[in-house]
Amino acid sequence: MEAHSLSKILYIDLDNKRYWVKERPELFKEWLGGVGVGIKLLIEECPKNIDPLSGENPIIFAIGYFNGIYPLASKTIALFKSPLTKDLGESHAGGRCGIAIRMAGYGAIVIKGSSDYPIYLVINENGVKFRDASALWGMSSTTAVGRILREREGTPGIRSIMRIGRAGEKMIPYACVITETFRTFGRLGLGAVFGSKKLKAIVISGRDSLKVKDPRGYRSIYDELYNSFIKSGAMKKYHDIGTSMNVMSLNLISSLPVRNLQKTKFEGINELSGEALAEKFLGRRIACAHCPVSCIHIAALRIPYENEPYFYKIKMIPYDYEPIYALGCMLDIRSAEGFLKIMDRVEELGLDAMSTGVILAWATECMEKGIITTKETDGLLLKWGDYKTYIEAINRIVEMKGEFYEALSKGVEYASSKYGGKDFALSFGGNEMPGYHCGLATHIGFLVGMRHSHLDNAGYDIDQKLNAEGKKLSPKEIGKMIFEEESWRQVLSSLVVCFFSRKVYTPEVISKCFSVIGIDINPSQLKEKGIEILKEKYKFKVREGFSLEKLRIPKRILETPTPQGVLKEEDIREGIMEYKRLLEGGY
Ligand code: SF4
Repeated sequence: MEAHSLSKILYIDLDNKRYWVKERPELFKEWLGGVGVGIKLLIEECPKNIDPLSGENPIIFAIGYFNGIYPLASKTIALFKSPLTKDLGESHAGGRCGIAIRMAGYGAIVIKGSSDYPIYLVINENGVKFRDASALWGMSSTTAVGRILREREGTPGIRSIMRIGRAGEKMIPYACVITETFRTFGRLGLGAVFGSKKLKAIVISGRDSLKVKDPRGYRSIYDELYNSFIKSGAMKKYHDIGTSMNVMSLNLISSLPVRNLQKTKFEGINELSGEALAEKFLGRRIACAHCPVSCIHIAALRIPYENEPYFYKIKMIPYDYEPIYALGCMLDIRSAEGFLKIMDRVEELGLDAMSTGVILAWATECMEKGIITTKETDGLLLKWGDYKTYIEAINRIVEMKGEFYEALSKGVEYASSKYGGKDFALSFGGNEMPGYHCGLATHIGFLVGMRHSHLDNAGYDIDQKLNAEGKKLSPKEIGKMIFEEESWRQVLSSLVVCFFSRKVYTPEVISKCFSVIGIDINPSQLKEKGIEILKEKYKFKVREGFSLEKLRIPKRILETPTPQGVLKEEDIREGIMEYKRLLEGGY
């Protein structure tokens, strides 16, 4: 297959268990692939105002021209209507799925309808097989499901296995999809959409290879990229400690949310820092396919068998900065073992770690303030640092045991509208807060970002640079910077490259990379395309009822000081309005 020919879309109809392939090269040429193609397909396939948990909600997986060709182009984009925010659902995952989809010959996969019994899909270059998953439905561990499918579906080529756990089956709106055991489509509830379709898993594999138009030019640009990533040492920090290096640095600058953002200094820092975890628990590092960096850190936790002295099982548990923040610092867990055990349970059940931690932190503060008692929690006393009780609460959330846990299972925005405590319910546009409290740009970024994620526009990064240089920018300037960064990130998400590579994949480098595979696009055309894609995403959100003016700003972020001092609501609103002005055409 030629590297510049990305055109096949695989459509799968779960209602009738049939599939077909359409050639749409013009869609990829115009929208680059990945999130660009994905948002166009979502607008085509998702009827307005549907229930996100109905069969009408499509799941779109999309990859880009760089997958399988260039280093760190290792991600897959999933788009759907989110059951959590009720507007745009977008999630990115690494692992092997991006390369597997490409090697199977597809640029995108659209899954529609729902099955009337549990199924899993086996996809390769020859098409799709619909297999009965009744025996897998209800299994308590996503790891076990992966193991069974690995043995049962031993297909040749590059293979990826996506699956949901109990949380997805129960349609918890912040359930995730696990891929390759240690990677996830984490945010905004893709797992619940799988569950609503009775889709337990997807096994996808491919054996194709890619040809480039200018092999000599390709070799030269590839070497240039490789040297920038590896020989320069730019990515060494990701390899050595991984994203969990942020725990120490954010704590140092008082930007680490602790105890539901009641404070920003963590007393368990010596146990839960990336350095401490690497020293005491690091079992192995792994990489997404076609990535020489290998930033994924896996802890090895030794767990003794009950009543069996000197017998242990070793649990391999992935950890990153965000889960440490949400399931560690936010809950004030000061023991690494305690944090890893919560993390393990969250992975087994297939929940989004960030949403889960933020929801439990809110519930703990509610109990602290007497808003709820053990009557609501059915006897559980939620206490900061008590990991065993948190694990039990997580089990009850997934099984929706009683009214209170059912409310928690719907997210912190819903639970706080039912029980109170809205001022300290840390949700942005309906999505639970990421782990940064660095200043004004951070929170404007969470609020306006199309996914309400730190990854949309990295406002936290703007703040960290400003804080380090002792500079200040006006809310308007911040709104503009966020708009520019988020627009540009649409290009990266269309190729689809890992954001850790963003300093290497500049507009000029991307343009050169395109040229050796036979596609002409210059840096300013790329930037324009990013803006167009962002506008399409915004269009979808507005269509589904989203409004930048009506965003709720949690009071807690205005109470706990950031390194820039206490934030003002009017500054945040001004930054949002500038972003809106630019997005709606005034740039
Ligand atoms: S840097 Fe890490 S997350 Fe990014 S592609 Fe490589 S292994 Fe995956």
